[in-house]
Amino acid sequence: MNDSKDISVVIPLWNEEESLRPLLEWIQRVMDENKFKYEVIFVNDGSTDSSWQVIEKLHEEYPETVHGICFRRNYGKSPALYCGFEAAQGNVVITMDADLQDSPDEIPELYRMIVEDGYDLVSGYKQNRKQGDPLSKTIPTKLFNATARRVSGIKNLHDFNCGLKAYRLEVVKNIEVYGEMHRYIPYLAKNAGFSKIGEKPVHHQARQFGKSKFMGWNRFVNGYLDLISLWFIDSFGLKPMHIFGFIGTLMFMVGFLAVIAVGGRKLWCLSAGIPCPLVTDMPYFYIALTMMILGTQLFVAGFLGELVSRNSQERNKYHIRTKC
Ligand code: UDP
Ligand code: MG
Repeated sequence: MNDSKDISVVIPLWNEEESLRPLLEWIQRVMDENKFKYEVIFVNDGSTDSSWQVIEKLHEEYPETVHGICFRRNYGKSPALYCGFEAAQGNVVITMDADLQDSPDEIPELYRMIVEDGYDLVSGYKQNRKQGDPLSKTIPTKLFNATARRVSGIKNLHDFNCGLKAYRLEVVKNIEVYGEMHRYIPYLAKNAGFSKIGEKPVHHQARQFGKSKFMGWNRFVNGYLDLISLWFIDSFGLKPMHIFGFIGTLMFMVGFLAVIAVGGRKLWCLSAGIPCPLVTDMPYFYIALTMMILGTQLFVAGFLGELVSRNSQERNKYHIRTKC
């Protein structure tokens, strides 16, 4: 494979049979107009409709440019992207949803931003999305983006969850999208050391066929939990003892001081012959007890964390930019 490709388009999909052919035709039109060398990788995430048959047909028609990966069952958008990223070969990798909501017309400009402006990652920012999306989706989305901006420190992104994104090939080969982390790919990229992250306003249309696969409030809760995990892994993943050990030691010390206060007072009362309440009647006793137990537990948690991270396969996986 010596003729290298300019662009790989990775499309995760789950039951999107009607959209696939029109989407591919639209992509082909844009690519041909701009004379890009490209490939399109459809990742079928356990569709139960005829999506895979459509993809096989498209591959037969365009064996050079259209490829498909078919999961045995539905794993989720992130695993689908992960496998698409593994297969991608183009210098620039573009992801887009299969539902025709993202416009392939944005591809040339996204490509230009990566290649000429030197961005590592450019995320789409969905404009005119009022049609179609219910309030139960837009309000959580706003809150979600505001929190993600703060926690990740990527201040210039308005729309983390946009399916339309462009990456330098190196970026997708160095990040691991798992669980439901597709919402936080810019954060994953930043953690892997790719910090030139940009945004481009993109056209967004209402869904024409099928329905949205992400509805309801539970995606909101899960989204926050994922964000907390990422923040924690980013901050303390390599040194769990630094957080647990610190808080644990602090609590233990407070408990220990409380023990001295309680015990000292008792001894002083005894020696001075003053009637003294039982130790268990003093609030400090309970503070001491809880603090010392919790402190020890946290310390042990930190220690276990260290042992786990020492044994993890990732422990010496650092992202090296170049060598010579
Ligand atoms: N998708 C997927 N696996 C899933 C859920 C969704 O591959 O488990 C795909 C889906 O087919 C679509 C894209 O991810 O191509 C975005 O999903 P959707 O359009 O439902 O999300 P929304 O635009 O409503 O946020
Ligand atoms: Mg969609």
